[in-house]
Amino acid sequence: MVIQKMIKSVIFDLDGTLLDRDASVEQFVSVQHDRLNEHLKHIPKSAYMAKFIELDCHGHVWKDQVYQTLVTEFSIETISWQLLLADYEIQFQCHCIPFPFLTEMLDELKQQGYLLGIITNGRGQFQARAIDGLGIRDYFDAILISEIEQVRKPQVEIFQRAIDRLGVLASESIFVGDHPEADIAGAKSAMMKTIWKRNSLWAAATEADAIIDELNEIPAILGQFNSY
Ligand SMILES: [Mg+2]
Repeated sequence: MVIQKMIKSVIFDLDGTLLDRDASVEQFVSVQHDRLNEHLKHIPKSAYMAKFIELDCHGHVWKDQVYQTLVTEFSIETISWQLLLADYEIQFQCHCIPFPFLTEMLDELKQQGYLLGIITNGRGQFQARAIDGLGIRDYFDAILISEIEQVRKPQVEIFQRAIDRLGVLASESIFVGDHPEADIAGAKSAMMKTIWKRNSLWAAATEADAIIDELNEIPAILGQFNSY
């Protein structure tokens, strides 16, 4: 007898779900201060890092604005904000830190035959480089980046497009993300099941079908859905 799985595809958010963005940004900014020290040495590293992290606002502010403010506030005179931004765009991928158990979890889901996808809000080339920085591109059957798709979470259309590309129904798909609005409410309105990866930045996404703290909890949760 062939057991039909109820859930056939698992679609993930990237930042704050697969990629530990806060840790990655912290490491990147620290190394940037070292690498461009001849231009930045008049600024204490801790002050440079703290200001970047504050202005970045957990990724909600693009770095053109962040670097323009840094250049003004810290009187950076020998390198332009455009060159600092270019350094960020090229070098960030070298500092992409995964959450624990990332590849173990993806290996397990792949082995169990799930189709895998990513839907991420952000710049096309930058998000693509971050996925490569984590070394996980080959696990995914569909990758949707909002700038390329011209539609972003929580709009239903981007979720619908992802499941169309995977060739599954919404009812056969589960979305894993950390943002209550963009990820959980968005996927719910697309009629998908949802797993909220708990994040202290946001209020609890109580409408999620399941809540996890670590990525290695996902296979067991899928097992529960598929045993109904
Ligand atoms: Mg996120």
